[in-house]
Amino acid sequence: MPFESPTAFQEPDVVIVGAGSAGISAARRLIAAGLSVTMLEARGRMGGRTVTRAFRGHPVDLGAHWLHAGPINPLVKLGRERGEPLKRAPVNGHFFVAGKKGTRAQRASLDRAFDMADRAMTRAAHAREDQAAATALPGMMGPMGHRVAAIHGLVSGRPLNEVSLHDFPSMEYSDNLFIAGGLGAYVKRLGLQVPVSLGTTVHAIDWSGRGVRIETSAGTLQARAAIVTTPMAVLQADAIRFAPTLPNEIAQAIHGFTQGVYEHVILHWPDSPFDGADRLASLTGTRHEPPGLLTRIDGTPFHFFELDQPRAASFDKRDAHAPARFAREVLAEHFGHRAIRRLSVMHATAWRNDPWSRASWAVVPPGLASIRDSLKAPVAERIWFAGEALSRAQWGTAGGAWEEGERAADEIARQLKAPV
Ligand SMILES: Cc1cc2nc3c(=O)[nH]c(=O)nc-3n(C[C@H](O)[C@H](O)[C@H](O)COP(=O)(O)OP(=O)(O)OC[C@H]3O[C@@H](n4cnc5c(N)ncnc54)[C@H](O)[C@@H]3O)c2cc1C
Repeated sequence: MPFESPTAFQEPDVVIVGAGSAGISAARRLIAAGLSVTMLEARGRMGGRTVTRAFRGHPVDLGAHWLHAGPINPLVKLGRERGEPLKRAPVNGHFFVAGKKGTRAQRASLDRAFDMADRAMTRAAHAREDQAAATALPGMMGPMGHRVAAIHGLVSGRPLNEVSLHDFPSMEYSDNLFIAGGLGAYVKRLGLQVPVSLGTTVHAIDWSGRGVRIETSAGTLQARAAIVTTPMAVLQADAIRFAPTLPNEIAQAIHGFTQGVYEHVILHWPDSPFDGADRLASLTGTRHEPPGLLTRIDGTPFHFFELDQPRAASFDKRDAHAPARFAREVLAEHFGHRAIRRLSVMHATAWRNDPWSRASWAVVPPGLASIRDSLKAPVAERIWFAGEALSRAQWGTAGGAWEEGERAADEIARQLKAPV
């Protein structure tokens, strides 16, 4: 079947599989280098795990929201060049103990526990063989030790006993920013000029002959090279058949990752006890301690109540209302039923059950710290992998995915433009 998209090149230099951060950045870079590109995207929209949706007229991100690691995040640099509405994330969050504002001493105890954990993990990552990050947590972190482990587990996508010690502290997590209007909307703007075929699922990549032959739900395309940016969990499900099969080291790297899970329960809570805008909230001192909340997003009545992997996994997939019930129950436990009378749960994300993501990001389990780098080697100089899973200092982020898209594109441009 010939390829059917009216918007895409039929025989581009490079086919890009997936129109998320990595795909869009690769496409822009290749086009700037004078190469022709077609992006193939299974969903009916661009942006992948970055997407902004309007609730009651306010833009809210359903996926990535923070621009982490400002000084090294390419989306921040580009945003500044474009005059995008970036703003620094506040450093001080809210801290409540059993529904009451925490004392200065309690807050200091949490800060101290964070410092101790970070120092211990960084030291151990240099001194010890790779093992579970949890093994490096000091035993003497004080009463806030369990909160630190829970928060680190939330941002890693798995509990720290399932995360590589060598991988976890390599992530840069400070100097964060936000963008007014949402990160998903920003990434979408960046993809506006790129030729893309939406609603086009890639089923197979044949690299047995010259270049690559890509079989899709809209027909077959031929290209000189391909960049595959689909999430690791999607590749693990064999959504794309490679012929011949991928080299062992690459296949093993793909199958080495585990599924990081992080979900937003989106609250509309105009009379919440949180003042200011865009501040994290840590709630402790009761039976359920939510691992994290982001409050008054962009100064609106919207908040994220975050779900970590163990909690999200505990919900029955068939019960779509379970996350909402849980969020209400926990907030009532902290602040009382009266306080949540005007709280509405607008939406709960389920990236872990979405066939085009199957997780929030890819996590490196203990002992496999080298797999991110293994995936950077191209297959027969024709197939490159890119996406958040390959980034070392910005893994699991839109900035990391962007960085890796550019890396793959630069390598391909060098290769395809080299004199033969
Ligand atoms: C709830 C949540 C919160 C997050 N918070 C943050 C945050 O605050 N900050 C941050 O930086 N990051 C965050 N992340 C992570 C961030 O969203 C991802 O790391 C990043 O967006 C991944 O980009 P990518 O290009 O690697 O992959 P994706 O964005 O997933 O793009 C891959 C694309 O491939 C497509 N695809 C899949 N299979 C096929 C196929 N067979 N054929 C064609 N197309 C296919 C998918 O539809 C998708 O569009 C969060 C993620 C989630 C889920």
